[in-house]
Amino acid sequence: MELVFATNNLNKLKEVQALIPSQIKLLSLKDIGCFEDVPETQHTIEGNAIQKAEYIKQHYGYDCFADDTGLEVEALNNEPGVFSARYAGEQRDANDNMNLLLKNLEDKVNRKAQFKTVIALHLYGKIQTFTGICRGEITSQKSGEQGFGYDPIFKPEEYEQTFAEMDLALKNTIGHRGKAVNQLVSFLNSSNVK
Ligand code: IMP
Repeated sequence: MELVFATNNLNKLKEVQALIPSQIKLLSLKDIGCFEDVPETQHTIEGNAIQKAEYIKQHYGYDCFADDTGLEVEALNNEPGVFSARYAGEQRDANDNMNLLLKNLEDKVNRKAQFKTVIALHLYGKIQTFTGICRGEITSQKSGEQGFGYDPIFKPEEYEQTFAEMDLALKNTIGHRGKAVNQLVSFLNSSNVK
């Protein structure tokens, strides 16, 4: 079957494509001719994922899934959370976001944080959500070149490297998006989707 992954982020597409069974053909937004910004104006990560999936189904007619991710930092009342992409401003710059987060944590002893991904699947007229969480902590400085976003300052629990120092396979295994995608894949398999 064909299923749209409602994203323009090539890093994410690459990550998810590596996890999706081969009988499911994944289409990007570009593949379906969607070049507009898909709205994500809700106040929760789950709300944004559902909004994006509903928008694609409604405007393009495809069954699809959409994800939304946020970094929740305990000492900052779970900020930046749903505002992770634009934490330091509308320029949505990963370095600016990391610099602001490091600054806001300067005087904090508690550096615990978690990435949370919610995937909303719109399939056969129903919406279903899958949540993946990866706990860890915010490092005191950036390190590593892999990945994207906040990866250089996020060290998952039980690991000594940041996400940006790991290869993609390891990040997929232990990471928030991988966990959510695995739930999606199990669901698709058990639903016998062809
Ligand atoms: P999005 O809503 O999934 O696009 O992500 C929101 C924000 O979280 C963006 O700033 C991303 O760069 C960041 N982000 C999402 N996933 C990850 C990840 O796996 N590692 C690091 N940052 C991420």
